[in-house]
Amino acid sequence: ALENTTINELKESDKKYFLHPTTSIKQHQANGPSFIFKEGKGIYLTDINGDQYIDAMSSLWNVNIGHGREEIAEAAKEQMSTLAYSSCFQGFSHEPVIRLSEKLASITPGDLNVSFFTSGGSESNDTAFKLIRHYWKLKGEAKRTKIIGVKRGYHGITVGATSATGIDQFQNMATAKAPDFVHATTRFKTNCELGDKSDPDYAGSIRGTIEKEGTETVAAIIVEPVMGAGGLFIPPAGYLQALRKLCDEYGILMIADEVICGFGRTGKMFGVDNWDVVPDVMTVAKGITSAYIQLGAVIITERLRNELAEISPNDVFFHGFTYSGHTTACAIALKNIEIIEREDLVGNAKRMEAELMKGFKYLENNHSIVTKSRAIGLLAGFELLKDREKGVPFDQAIMAAPKVVGECHKRKLIVRPVVFEGSNSIVFAPPLITNKEQVETIINKLSDAISAFE
Ligand code: PLP
Repeated sequence: ALENTTINELKESDKKYFLHPTTSIKQHQANGPSFIFKEGKGIYLTDINGDQYIDAMSSLWNVNIGHGREEIAEAAKEQMSTLAYSSCFQGFSHEPVIRLSEKLASITPGDLNVSFFTSGGSESNDTAFKLIRHYWKLKGEAKRTKIIGVKRGYHGITVGATSATGIDQFQNMATAKAPDFVHATTRFKTNCELGDKSDPDYAGSIRGTIEKEGTETVAAIIVEPVMGAGGLFIPPAGYLQALRKLCDEYGILMIADEVICGFGRTGKMFGVDNWDVVPDVMTVAKGITSAYIQLGAVIITERLRNELAEISPNDVFFHGFTYSGHTTACAIALKNIEIIEREDLVGNAKRMEAELMKGFKYLENNHSIVTKSRAIGLLAGFELLKDREKGVPFDQAIMAAPKVVGECHKRKLIVRPVVFEGSNSIVFAPPLITNKEQVETIINKLSDAISAFE
């Protein structure tokens, strides 16, 4: 632990000089930072007071292989000492980016074999939107500009990604929502997506939305295979297949935002693998490096790349970030994927899903406010209801989920609340190395935290 005077100095400087992402400025000014961490090992984070927490969110759903992996540090050191960075513009290349592109082609489904690199999820989604609109324009279908997302979907915070995001708070912040982003409001009704117009929810489905907008104006749909930040919603069997069919029917491109789901999180290497669906474009970030460094990618089908080459013989794809294919980031990603495969972390995520669900059922049996628990791999959540039997939600002002999460923090457990329109959920994404005993510890801490709130 640090000296008290140092801790106080750090807190004061944090308040004074640091504008935190996705944080209440007022609360931060009043209370300072909620945590200051200094060390991470496995599923644990240790703060400057020396207190050890279970990071049951993998920080931001991204530290898939767990904290403190020496192997990654060594891979970074080796790459930085050899060639830290060289550009990938104008056909320049280096071995790590080539090997990583090759690796991604081998682990992604279907003919998703061609990668473009970014520094994160938002950049990946913006790239996907630009690439797809560029494609339609070159194909002589310039009217196809609309991107259809879904309500509660989260795709990031750059202007394009925020515009595709279906969560009001983020859109309100970026008052300049870009044109041609539309949101479907009906969640997961397979029959609607298959064309059942008799369903009262049809108009709000993705199919209903596409038809209302005009099928010839839609460039792409974007979905998270499992909705994460918007509240942890797992689609029913057949849903993603229905979307694939819908896109094929109208010649619309399907983007799977795998930023959370990718790299083992759902107990398969990619979220879409749970339903054997191959999108036209896949966006990834987070788990690609397990957060050891920033990296994202847009993976497109060979068919799409070949078509782009064909229709734009003299045209440069005028899009590229300075750090597209960052050498050290690619080397770290390769080592990270090697660890995921060597340690069968995808299999472990699947096995721990069963343990988590066992724990959630225990919570449901022992706490009358816990309901709707769900998990797919190590991506999980449950809801809190004031009256579970009658389906009565907690009053928004009670802040049920944030209060339970506050109790979790007191018990050295980090989880995340999601609150919207009368819904209070707690969501989890523990590192993929989490074992059975650790799941049990998480459940016991949760049970204590819920009791303290009840
Ligand atoms: N897409 C999804 C599904 C996400 O969960 C996130 C981030 O949480 C993003 C995109 C944005 O990624 P980034 O924060 O790396 O820009």
